[in-house]
Amino acid sequence: MFLTISTTGTPERPASDLGFLLHKHPDKAQSFPTSHGLAHVFYPEAGAERCTAALLLEVDPVGLVRRGRGKGRGGSPTATSGSGALAQYVNDRPYAASSLLAVALGTVFKSARQGRCDQRPELAAAALPLTVTVPVLPAKAGKDGGAELVRRLFEPLGWQVRSEPIPLDPAFPDWGDSHYVSLELTGTRRLADALNQLYVLLPVLDDSKHYWVSPDEVDKLLRVGEGWLGTHPELSLITRRYFSRRWSLARSAMERLELARLAEADDRELEEIDNAVPEQEADEQAVEEKPTPLAVQRRAAILEALRAAGATRVVDLGCGEGSLVGALLKEPRITEVLGVDVSSRALGIAARRLHLDRMSERQASRVRLVQGALTYTDARLTGYDAAVLSEVVEHVDPPRLPALAYAVFGAARPGTVVVTTPNAEYNVRWESLPAGHVRHPDHRFEWDRAQFRAWARQVADSYGYGVAFAPVGPDDPEVGPPTQLATFTRTPADRPQEAANR
Ligand code: SAH
Repeated sequence: MFLTISTTGTPERPASDLGFLLHKHPDKAQSFPTSHGLAHVFYPEAGAERCTAALLLEVDPVGLVRRGRGKGRGGSPTATSGSGALAQYVNDRPYAASSLLAVALGTVFKSARQGRCDQRPELAAAALPLTVTVPVLPAKAGKDGGAELVRRLFEPLGWQVRSEPIPLDPAFPDWGDSHYVSLELTGTRRLADALNQLYVLLPVLDDSKHYWVSPDEVDKLLRVGEGWLGTHPELSLITRRYFSRRWSLARSAMERLELARLAEADDRELEEIDNAVPEQEADEQAVEEKPTPLAVQRRAAILEALRAAGATRVVDLGCGEGSLVGALLKEPRITEVLGVDVSSRALGIAARRLHLDRMSERQASRVRLVQGALTYTDARLTGYDAAVLSEVVEHVDPPRLPALAYAVFGAARPGTVVVTTPNAEYNVRWESLPAGHVRHPDHRFEWDRAQFRAWARQVADSYGYGVAFAPVGPDDPEVGPPTQLATFTRTPADRPQEAANR
Protein backbone atom coordinates (compact mmCIF):
# COMPACT_ATOMS: atom_id res chain seq x y z
CA MET A 1 0.00 0.00 0.00
CA PHE A 2 1.55 3.09 -1.22
CA LEU A 3 0.84 6.74 -1.70
CA THR A 4 2.95 9.74 -2.69
CA ILE A 5 2.56 13.46 -2.16
CA SER A 6 4.56 15.88 -4.31
CA THR A 7 4.96 19.62 -4.44
CA THR A 8 6.97 22.06 -6.49
CA GLY A 9 9.08 24.89 -5.12
CA THR A 10 9.46 28.60 -5.82
CA PRO A 11 12.58 30.78 -5.55
CA GLU A 12 11.49 31.77 -2.02
CA ARG A 13 10.33 28.35 -0.93
CA PRO A 14 12.23 25.18 -1.80
CA ALA A 15 9.97 22.20 -2.48
CA SER A 16 11.82 20.21 0.17
CA ASP A 17 10.12 22.35 2.84
CA LEU A 18 7.45 19.68 2.51
CA GLY A 19 9.58 17.87 5.08
CA PHE A 20 8.82 20.56 7.68
CA LEU A 21 5.11 20.30 7.00
CA LEU A 22 5.05 16.54 7.28
CA HIS A 23 7.35 16.63 10.32
CA LYS A 24 9.53 14.04 8.60
CA HIS A 25 13.06 14.85 7.50
CA PRO A 26 13.61 14.46 3.73
CA ASP A 27 17.12 13.04 4.19
CA LYS A 28 16.20 9.88 5.99
CA ALA A 29 13.77 7.02 5.68
CA GLN A 30 11.80 6.46 8.85
CA SER A 31 9.52 3.67 10.01
CA PHE A 32 6.64 3.79 12.45
CA PRO A 33 4.75 0.88 13.92
CA THR A 34 0.99 1.22 13.40
CA SER A 35 -1.78 -1.09 14.51
CA HIS A 36 -1.79 -2.87 11.15
CA GLY A 37 1.87 -3.06 10.29
CA LEU A 38 4.92 -0.95 9.72
CA ALA A 39 4.55 2.45 8.00
CA HIS A 40 7.58 3.78 6.15
CA VAL A 41 8.05 7.40 5.13
CA PHE A 42 10.75 8.32 2.63
CA TYR A 43 11.42 10.86 -0.09
CA PRO A 44 12.12 9.51 -3.61
CA GLU A 45 13.07 13.10 -4.51
CA ALA A 46 13.71 16.12 -2.29
CA GLY A 47 15.08 18.98 -4.32
CA ALA A 48 14.41 22.70 -4.35
CA GLU A 49 12.22 22.39 -7.41
CA ARG A 50 10.35 19.23 -6.67
CA CYS A 51 9.87 17.09 -3.62
CA THR A 52 7.96 13.85 -3.21
CA ALA A 53 7.16 12.10 0.03
CA ALA A 54 6.05 8.48 -0.03
CA LEU A 55 4.09 6.59 2.57
CA LEU A 56 4.31 2.85 2.35
CA LEU A 57 2.41 0.59 4.67
CA GLU A 58 3.74 -2.89 5.09
CA VAL A 59 0.71 -4.70 6.34
CA ASP A 60 1.13 -7.73 8.48
CA PRO A 61 -1.66 -9.98 7.10
CA VAL A 62 -1.09 -12.76 9.58
CA GLY A 63 -1.18 -10.29 12.44
CA LEU A 64 -4.42 -8.88 11.07
CA VAL A 65 -6.04 -12.28 11.12
CA ARG A 66 -4.69 -13.09 14.57
CA ARG A 67 -6.20 -9.89 15.87
CA GLY A 68 -9.48 -10.81 14.17
CA ARG A 69 -9.19 -7.98 11.72
CA GLY A 70 -8.29 -9.74 8.50
CA LYS A 71 -11.66 -10.18 6.91
CA GLY A 72 -11.07 -7.86 4.01
CA ARG A 73 -12.25 -8.76 0.56
CA GLY A 74 -10.44 -11.52 -1.32
CA GLY A 75 -8.41 -9.49 -3.72
CA SER A 76 -6.55 -11.79 -6.02
CA PRO A 77 -8.65 -13.19 -8.87
CA THR A 78 -7.51 -16.67 -7.91
CA ALA A 79 -8.37 -16.40 -4.26
CA THR A 80 -11.78 -17.67 -3.18
CA SER A 81 -14.06 -14.67 -3.27
CA GLY A 82 -13.29 -13.24 0.11
CA SER A 83 -14.65 -16.13 2.12
CA GLY A 84 -13.00 -19.27 3.32
CA ALA A 85 -9.95 -19.80 5.45
CA LEU A 86 -7.39 -18.99 2.78
CA ALA A 87 -8.95 -15.66 1.92
CA GLN A 88 -8.23 -14.51 5.43
CA TYR A 89 -4.56 -14.64 4.53
CA VAL A 90 -4.62 -14.18 0.77
CA ASN A 91 -6.49 -10.95 0.22
CA ASP A 92 -5.86 -7.46 -1.02
CA ARG A 93 -5.24 -5.89 2.36
CA PRO A 94 -1.45 -5.79 2.03
CA TYR A 95 -1.41 -4.37 -1.48
CA ALA A 96 -4.26 -1.99 -2.09
CA ALA A 97 -4.53 1.41 -0.55
CA SER A 98 -7.43 1.25 1.77
CA SER A 99 -8.75 2.04 5.17
CA LEU A 100 -5.52 0.67 6.60
CA LEU A 101 -3.45 3.16 4.63
CA ALA A 102 -5.79 5.89 5.81
CA VAL A 103 -5.21 4.85 9.41
CA ALA A 104 -1.45 4.92 8.83
CA LEU A 105 -1.67 8.33 7.14
CA GLY A 106 -3.82 9.58 9.98
CA THR A 107 -1.31 8.48 12.58
CA VAL A 108 2.01 9.16 10.89
CA PHE A 109 1.00 12.60 9.60
CA LYS A 110 -1.18 13.62 12.52
CA SER A 111 0.46 17.00 13.16
CA ALA A 112 0.43 17.77 9.44
CA ARG A 113 -3.28 16.88 9.26
CA GLN A 114 -3.92 19.27 12.11
CA GLY A 115 -2.09 22.00 10.21
CA ARG A 116 0.60 22.33 12.91
CA CYS A 117 4.06 23.46 11.87
CA ASP A 118 5.96 25.46 14.46
CA GLN A 119 8.97 26.01 12.23
CA ARG A 120 7.03 27.19 9.17
CA PRO A 121 3.55 28.23 10.34
CA GLU A 122 3.03 30.34 7.21
CA LEU A 123 3.68 27.25 5.12
CA ALA A 124 1.04 25.22 6.94
CA ALA A 125 -1.50 27.95 6.24
CA ALA A 126 -0.56 28.34 2.58
CA ALA A 127 -2.16 26.63 -0.39
CA LEU A 128 0.60 24.66 -2.12
CA PRO A 129 0.66 23.05 -5.55
CA LEU A 130 0.18 19.37 -4.71
CA THR A 131 0.04 16.10 -6.57
CA VAL A 132 -1.11 12.98 -4.79
CA THR A 133 -0.78 9.57 -6.39
CA VAL A 134 -2.16 6.27 -5.25
CA PRO A 135 -1.08 3.64 -7.77
CA VAL A 136 -3.57 1.00 -6.63
CA LEU A 137 -6.79 1.99 -5.02
CA PRO A 138 -9.69 -0.37 -4.42
CA ALA A 139 -12.82 1.09 -6.01
CA LYS A 140 -15.22 -1.58 -7.19
CA ALA A 141 -16.79 -0.71 -10.52
CA GLY A 142 -20.56 -0.26 -10.72
CA LYS A 143 -23.06 2.38 -9.88
CA ASP A 144 -21.38 3.50 -6.68
CA GLY A 145 -17.84 2.64 -7.51
CA GLY A 146 -14.94 2.67 -9.88
CA ALA A 147 -13.12 5.59 -11.41
CA GLU A 148 -16.42 7.42 -11.68
CA LEU A 149 -16.93 7.44 -7.90
CA VAL A 150 -13.35 8.58 -7.43
CA ARG A 151 -14.21 11.63 -9.53
CA ARG A 152 -17.47 12.25 -7.70
CA LEU A 153 -15.61 12.25 -4.41
CA PHE A 154 -12.59 14.38 -5.28
CA GLU A 155 -13.72 16.77 -8.02
CA PRO A 156 -16.21 18.70 -5.88
CA LEU A 157 -13.28 19.44 -3.56
CA GLY A 158 -11.49 21.21 -6.39
CA TRP A 159 -9.04 18.44 -7.29
CA GLN A 160 -8.17 17.69 -10.86
CA VAL A 161 -8.65 13.95 -10.93
CA ARG A 162 -6.98 11.35 -13.12
CA SER A 163 -8.29 7.94 -12.36
CA GLU A 164 -7.97 4.88 -14.60
CA PRO A 165 -9.30 1.39 -14.10
CA ILE A 166 -6.51 -1.15 -13.76
CA PRO A 167 -6.96 -4.19 -16.03
CA LEU A 168 -6.97 -7.58 -14.34
CA ASP A 169 -4.08 -8.58 -16.55
CA PRO A 170 -2.72 -6.26 -19.26
CA ALA A 171 -1.78 -9.34 -21.29
CA PHE A 172 -5.43 -10.43 -21.41
CA PRO A 173 -7.58 -7.35 -22.07
CA ASP A 174 -10.62 -9.62 -22.51
CA TRP A 175 -10.57 -10.34 -18.80
CA GLY A 176 -11.66 -6.80 -18.24
CA ASP A 177 -10.86 -4.46 -15.38
CA SER A 178 -9.99 -5.30 -11.82
CA HIS A 179 -11.65 -3.72 -8.80
CA TYR A 180 -8.79 -1.28 -8.62
CA VAL A 181 -8.06 2.09 -10.12
CA SER A 182 -5.01 4.30 -10.20
CA LEU A 183 -5.42 7.78 -8.85
CA GLU A 184 -3.67 11.07 -9.39
CA LEU A 185 -4.98 14.25 -7.77
CA THR A 186 -3.64 17.67 -8.67
CA GLY A 187 -4.63 20.84 -6.92
CA THR A 188 -3.48 23.83 -4.94
CA ARG A 189 -4.46 23.67 -1.31
CA ARG A 190 -3.25 23.43 2.26
CA LEU A 191 -1.44 20.18 2.88
CA ALA A 192 -3.60 19.62 5.99
CA ASP A 193 -6.78 19.75 3.89
CA ALA A 194 -5.37 17.31 1.36
CA LEU A 195 -4.38 14.84 4.09
CA ASN A 196 -7.73 15.11 5.86
CA GLN A 197 -9.60 14.52 2.63
CA LEU A 198 -7.54 11.41 1.89
CA TYR A 199 -7.98 10.26 5.47
CA VAL A 200 -11.77 10.29 5.07
CA LEU A 201 -12.17 9.37 1.42
CA LEU A 202 -9.75 6.44 1.07
CA PRO A 203 -11.84 4.27 3.42
CA VAL A 204 -14.99 5.49 1.66
CA LEU A 205 -13.65 4.17 -1.64
CA ASP A 206 -12.48 0.99 -0.04
CA ASP A 207 -15.95 0.32 1.40
CA SER A 208 -14.89 -2.84 3.15
CA LYS A 209 -15.27 -3.26 6.83
CA HIS A 210 -13.29 -0.74 8.82
CA TYR A 211 -12.00 -1.56 12.18
CA TRP A 212 -11.83 1.59 14.14
CA VAL A 213 -15.36 2.86 14.35
CA SER A 214 -16.29 4.01 17.83
CA PRO A 215 -18.82 6.59 18.98
CA ASP A 216 -16.26 9.38 19.21
CA GLU A 217 -15.56 8.79 15.52
CA VAL A 218 -18.42 11.17 14.83
CA ASP A 219 -16.57 13.96 16.62
CA LYS A 220 -13.42 13.01 14.80
CA LEU A 221 -15.08 13.04 11.39
CA LEU A 222 -16.57 16.47 12.08
CA ARG A 223 -13.14 17.79 13.07
CA VAL A 224 -11.38 16.23 10.12
CA GLY A 225 -14.14 17.26 7.72
CA GLU A 226 -14.23 20.87 8.84
CA GLY A 227 -14.53 23.27 5.97
CA TRP A 228 -15.13 20.73 3.19
CA LEU A 229 -17.31 17.80 4.20
CA GLY A 230 -20.53 19.58 5.19
CA THR A 231 -21.14 20.92 1.70
CA HIS A 232 -19.91 17.87 -0.22
CA PRO A 233 -22.57 16.67 -2.70
CA GLU A 234 -21.79 13.03 -1.78
CA LEU A 235 -22.07 13.68 1.96
CA SER A 236 -24.61 10.96 2.49
CA LEU A 237 -22.59 8.26 0.69
CA ILE A 238 -19.44 9.40 2.47
CA THR A 239 -20.87 9.20 5.98
CA ARG A 240 -22.64 5.91 5.25
CA ARG A 241 -19.49 4.23 4.03
CA TYR A 242 -17.13 5.95 6.45
CA PHE A 243 -19.07 4.43 9.30
CA SER A 244 -19.31 1.06 7.55
CA ARG A 245 -23.09 1.39 7.42
CA ARG A 246 -23.44 1.89 11.15
CA TRP A 247 -26.50 3.96 10.48
CA SER A 248 -26.84 5.64 13.83
CA LEU A 249 -23.33 7.05 13.61
CA ALA A 250 -23.75 8.10 9.98
CA ARG A 251 -27.01 9.76 10.82
CA SER A 252 -25.63 11.52 13.83
CA ALA A 253 -22.75 12.88 11.74
CA MET A 254 -25.11 14.05 8.99
CA GLU A 255 -27.37 15.70 11.49
CA ARG A 256 -24.56 17.55 13.19
CA LEU A 257 -23.03 18.62 9.89
CA GLU A 258 -26.39 19.87 8.74
CA LEU A 259 -26.87 21.75 11.99
CA ALA A 260 -23.49 23.36 11.61
CA ARG A 261 -24.16 24.27 8.00
CA LEU A 262 -27.59 25.72 8.69
CA ALA A 263 -26.35 27.62 11.71
CA GLU A 264 -23.51 29.03 9.63
CA ALA A 265 -25.87 30.08 6.84
CA ASP A 266 -28.16 31.56 9.44
CA ASP A 267 -25.36 33.55 11.06
CA ARG A 268 -24.33 34.87 7.66
CA GLU A 269 -27.89 35.83 6.95
CA LEU A 270 -28.31 37.63 10.26
CA GLU A 271 -25.06 39.46 9.66
CA GLU A 272 -26.22 40.50 6.22
CA ILE A 273 -29.43 41.75 7.73
CA ASP A 274 -27.57 43.60 10.49
CA ASN A 275 -25.45 45.30 7.85
CA ALA A 276 -28.39 46.25 5.69
CA VAL A 277 -30.93 47.51 8.18
CA PRO A 278 -32.26 50.53 6.29
CA GLU A 279 -33.05 48.58 3.12
CA GLN A 280 -34.45 45.70 5.10
CA GLU A 281 -36.77 48.05 6.90
CA ALA A 282 -37.93 49.49 3.63
CA ASP A 283 -38.56 46.02 2.32
CA GLU A 284 -40.34 44.29 5.12
CA GLN A 285 -41.46 46.63 7.81
CA ALA A 286 -42.72 49.60 5.82
CA VAL A 287 -45.10 47.47 3.84
CA GLU A 288 -46.16 45.61 6.94
CA GLU A 289 -46.64 48.65 9.17
CA LYS A 290 -50.08 49.74 7.94
CA PRO A 291 -52.61 49.23 9.31
CA THR A 292 -51.63 46.28 11.54
CA PRO A 293 -48.24 44.72 10.89
CA LEU A 294 -48.60 41.47 8.99
CA ALA A 295 -46.51 39.63 11.61
CA VAL A 296 -49.07 40.62 14.26
CA GLN A 297 -51.95 39.48 12.09
CA ARG A 298 -50.13 36.22 11.48
CA ARG A 299 -49.64 35.54 15.18
CA ALA A 300 -53.31 36.34 15.83
CA ALA A 301 -54.41 33.92 13.10
CA ILE A 302 -52.16 31.17 14.47
CA LEU A 303 -53.41 31.70 18.05
CA GLU A 304 -56.98 31.54 16.75
CA ALA A 305 -56.31 28.25 14.95
CA LEU A 306 -54.74 26.80 18.11
CA ARG A 307 -57.65 28.03 20.24
CA ALA A 308 -60.14 26.41 17.84
CA ALA A 309 -58.21 23.15 18.09
CA GLY A 310 -58.25 23.32 21.91
CA ALA A 311 -54.47 22.93 22.05
CA THR A 312 -52.78 23.49 25.42
CA ARG A 313 -49.31 22.02 24.76
CA VAL A 314 -47.71 23.58 21.70
CA VAL A 315 -44.37 23.24 19.92
CA ASP A 316 -43.22 26.18 17.79
CA LEU A 317 -41.03 24.70 15.06
CA GLY A 318 -38.52 27.21 13.70
CA CYS A 319 -39.43 29.61 16.51
CA GLY A 320 -36.74 32.11 15.48
CA GLU A 321 -36.45 34.98 17.92
CA GLY A 322 -39.44 33.80 19.91
CA SER A 323 -42.24 36.25 19.14
CA LEU A 324 -44.88 33.52 18.85
CA VAL A 325 -43.53 31.77 21.96
CA GLY A 326 -44.04 35.07 23.81
CA ALA A 327 -47.58 35.42 22.49
CA LEU A 328 -48.39 31.84 23.47
CA LEU A 329 -47.15 32.40 27.02
CA LYS A 330 -49.62 35.27 27.35
CA GLU A 331 -52.47 32.80 26.82
CA PRO A 332 -53.36 31.31 30.21
CA ARG A 333 -54.87 28.27 28.47
CA ILE A 334 -51.49 27.25 27.11
CA THR A 335 -49.71 25.12 29.70
CA GLU A 336 -46.53 24.26 27.84
CA VAL A 337 -44.55 25.73 24.95
CA LEU A 338 -41.48 24.24 23.30
CA GLY A 339 -39.59 26.47 20.88
CA VAL A 340 -37.25 24.72 18.44
CA ASP A 341 -34.82 26.32 16.04
CA VAL A 342 -31.64 25.38 14.28
CA SER A 343 -30.04 28.73 14.97
CA SER A 344 -28.43 29.07 18.39
CA ARG A 345 -28.14 32.78 17.74
CA ALA A 346 -31.89 33.16 17.20
CA LEU A 347 -32.52 31.04 20.32
CA GLY A 348 -30.20 33.30 22.33
CA ILE A 349 -32.14 36.36 21.21
CA ALA A 350 -35.41 34.57 22.03
CA ALA A 351 -34.20 33.72 25.54
CA ARG A 352 -33.22 37.35 26.14
CA ARG A 353 -36.43 38.77 24.72
CA LEU A 354 -38.55 36.41 26.77
CA HIS A 355 -36.45 37.16 29.90
CA LEU A 356 -36.16 33.43 30.52
CA ASP A 357 -33.53 34.07 33.21
CA ARG A 358 -35.82 36.36 35.21
CA MET A 359 -39.02 34.34 34.92
CA SER A 360 -40.83 33.04 37.96
CA GLU A 361 -40.45 29.32 38.44
CA ARG A 362 -44.08 28.76 37.53
CA GLN A 363 -43.72 30.66 34.27
CA ALA A 364 -40.38 29.10 33.47
CA SER A 365 -41.91 25.65 33.85
CA ARG A 366 -44.20 26.45 30.92
CA VAL A 367 -41.49 27.16 28.36
CA ARG A 368 -38.40 25.54 26.89
CA LEU A 369 -36.19 26.48 23.96
CA VAL A 370 -34.11 23.79 22.28
CA GLN A 371 -31.87 23.61 19.26
CA GLY A 372 -32.81 21.12 16.58
CA ALA A 373 -33.02 20.53 12.84
CA LEU A 374 -36.56 19.98 11.63
CA THR A 375 -35.51 17.73 8.79
CA TYR A 376 -34.65 14.98 11.29
CA THR A 377 -37.04 13.05 13.47
CA ASP A 378 -36.69 14.14 17.06
CA ALA A 379 -38.22 12.34 20.05
CA ARG A 380 -38.42 15.66 21.93
CA LEU A 381 -41.16 16.80 19.54
CA THR A 382 -43.60 13.98 20.31
CA GLY A 383 -46.58 14.24 22.63
CA TYR A 384 -47.71 17.81 21.87
CA ASP A 385 -51.29 18.80 21.02
CA ALA A 386 -50.21 21.12 18.27
CA ALA A 387 -47.17 22.18 16.24
CA VAL A 388 -46.69 25.49 14.44
CA LEU A 389 -44.50 26.07 11.39
CA SER A 390 -44.75 29.85 11.03
CA GLU A 391 -42.86 31.14 7.98
CA VAL A 392 -40.45 28.20 8.12
CA VAL A 393 -41.12 25.83 5.20
CA GLU A 394 -39.91 28.39 2.67
CA HIS A 395 -36.50 28.39 4.43
CA VAL A 396 -36.02 24.68 3.73
CA ASP A 397 -34.42 23.44 0.50
CA PRO A 398 -37.15 21.78 -1.58
CA PRO A 399 -35.40 18.38 -1.66
CA ARG A 400 -35.43 18.40 2.18
CA LEU A 401 -39.16 19.16 2.47
CA PRO A 402 -40.25 15.50 2.43
CA ALA A 403 -37.87 14.87 5.36
CA LEU A 404 -39.43 17.78 7.26
CA ALA A 405 -42.93 16.51 6.47
CA TYR A 406 -41.99 13.07 7.75
CA ALA A 407 -40.37 14.41 10.92
CA VAL A 408 -43.42 16.55 11.77
CA PHE A 409 -46.44 14.67 10.39
CA GLY A 410 -45.03 11.13 10.31
CA ALA A 411 -42.95 11.00 13.49
CA ALA A 412 -43.96 13.79 15.92
CA ARG A 413 -47.65 13.49 14.85
CA PRO A 414 -49.32 16.22 16.92
CA GLY A 415 -53.13 16.41 16.71
CA THR A 416 -52.93 19.78 14.94
CA VAL A 417 -50.30 21.41 12.74
CA VAL A 418 -50.56 25.06 11.72
CA VAL A 419 -48.41 26.12 8.75
CA THR A 420 -48.02 29.64 7.39
CA THR A 421 -46.02 30.71 4.37
CA PRO A 422 -45.94 33.71 2.01
CA ASN A 423 -48.27 33.77 -0.97
CA ALA A 424 -46.01 34.55 -3.93
CA GLU A 425 -48.93 35.93 -5.96
CA TYR A 426 -49.25 38.79 -3.48
CA ASN A 427 -45.67 39.98 -4.09
CA VAL A 428 -46.81 42.29 -6.89
CA ARG A 429 -48.65 44.28 -4.22
CA TRP A 430 -45.48 45.02 -2.23
CA GLU A 431 -44.46 48.31 -3.75
CA SER A 432 -40.90 48.12 -2.51
CA LEU A 433 -40.33 44.57 -3.74
CA PRO A 434 -38.76 44.41 -7.20
CA ALA A 435 -40.67 42.13 -9.58
CA GLY A 436 -39.65 38.48 -9.41
CA HIS A 437 -37.96 38.84 -6.00
CA VAL A 438 -38.71 36.84 -2.88
CA ARG A 439 -39.47 38.66 0.33
CA HIS A 440 -36.45 37.52 2.26
CA PRO A 441 -32.94 36.62 1.09
CA ASP A 442 -33.09 33.18 2.75
CA HIS A 443 -36.37 32.10 1.18
CA ARG A 444 -35.60 29.03 -0.93
CA PHE A 445 -38.93 29.44 -2.72
CA GLU A 446 -42.28 31.15 -2.36
CA TRP A 447 -45.42 29.28 -3.32
CA ASP A 448 -48.53 30.60 -5.01
CA ARG A 449 -51.84 29.48 -3.56
CA ALA A 450 -52.18 26.44 -5.83
CA GLN A 451 -48.66 25.22 -5.03
CA PHE A 452 -49.13 25.56 -1.27
CA ARG A 453 -52.46 23.75 -1.41
CA ALA A 454 -51.06 20.95 -3.55
CA TRP A 455 -48.19 20.42 -1.10
CA ALA A 456 -50.47 20.59 1.92
CA ARG A 457 -53.04 18.17 0.48
CA GLN A 458 -50.35 15.69 -0.47
CA VAL A 459 -48.81 15.81 3.01
CA ALA A 460 -52.24 15.52 4.64
CA ASP A 461 -53.12 12.49 2.50
CA SER A 462 -49.80 10.78 3.12
CA TYR A 463 -49.92 11.10 6.89
CA GLY A 464 -53.61 10.83 7.72
CA TYR A 465 -54.51 14.45 8.33
CA GLY A 466 -57.33 16.66 7.06
CA VAL A 467 -56.41 20.19 5.99
CA ALA A 468 -58.22 23.55 5.83
CA PHE A 469 -56.93 26.84 4.44
CA ALA A 470 -57.36 30.43 5.61
CA PRO A 471 -56.05 33.80 4.42
CA VAL A 472 -53.94 36.05 6.66
CA GLY A 473 -53.97 39.76 5.87
CA PRO A 474 -56.14 41.49 3.25
CA ASP A 475 -57.56 38.87 0.87
CA ASP A 476 -57.01 40.55 -2.49
CA PRO A 477 -59.64 39.48 -5.03
CA GLU A 478 -57.01 39.00 -7.69
CA VAL A 479 -53.85 37.75 -6.00
CA GLY A 480 -55.15 36.51 -2.64
CA PRO A 481 -53.73 37.33 0.83
CA PRO A 482 -50.09 38.12 1.66
CA THR A 483 -49.81 35.08 3.93
CA GLN A 484 -51.46 31.72 3.53
CA LEU A 485 -52.30 29.49 6.48
CA ALA A 486 -53.17 25.80 6.60
CA THR A 487 -54.49 23.94 9.63
CA PHE A 488 -53.90 20.19 9.56
CA THR A 489 -55.97 18.01 11.84
CA ARG A 490 -55.02 14.41 12.46
CA THR A 491 -57.93 12.23 11.38
CA PRO A 492 -59.41 10.15 14.22
CA ALA A 493 -59.48 7.04 12.03
CA ASP A 494 -55.73 7.15 12.07
CA ARG A 495 -55.49 6.61 15.81
CA PRO A 496 -56.09 2.85 16.01
CA GLN A 497 -53.61 2.33 13.20
CA GLU A 498 -51.14 4.54 14.95
CA ALA A 499 -51.58 2.50 18.11
CA ALA A 500 -51.04 -0.67 16.10
CA ASN A 501 -47.82 0.76 14.70
CA ARG A 502 -46.33 1.34 18.08
N1 SAH B 1 -41.33 31.21 13.18
C1 SAH B 1 -40.72 32.52 13.25
C2 SAH B 1 -39.38 32.60 12.47
C3 SAH B 1 -39.49 32.39 11.00
S1 SAH B 1 -37.91 32.57 10.19
C4 SAH B 1 -41.68 33.57 12.76
O1 SAH B 1 -42.74 33.25 12.29
O2 SAH B 1 -41.35 34.74 12.87
C5 SAH B 1 -37.50 30.88 9.89
C6 SAH B 1 -36.84 30.20 11.07
O3 SAH B 1 -36.74 28.83 10.75
C7 SAH B 1 -35.43 30.69 11.34
O4 SAH B 1 -35.33 31.04 12.69
C8 SAH B 1 -34.55 29.51 11.00
O5 SAH B 1 -33.44 29.41 11.85
C9 SAH B 1 -35.48 28.35 11.19
N2 SAH B 1 -35.15 27.19 10.37
C10 SAH B 1 -34.94 27.14 9.04
N3 SAH B 1 -34.66 25.89 8.65
C11 SAH B 1 -34.70 25.13 9.76
C12 SAH B 1 -34.48 23.74 10.01
N4 SAH B 1 -34.20 22.89 9.03
N5 SAH B 1 -34.59 23.30 11.27
C13 SAH B 1 -34.90 24.16 12.29
N6 SAH B 1 -35.11 25.46 12.10
C14 SAH B 1 -35.01 25.95 10.86
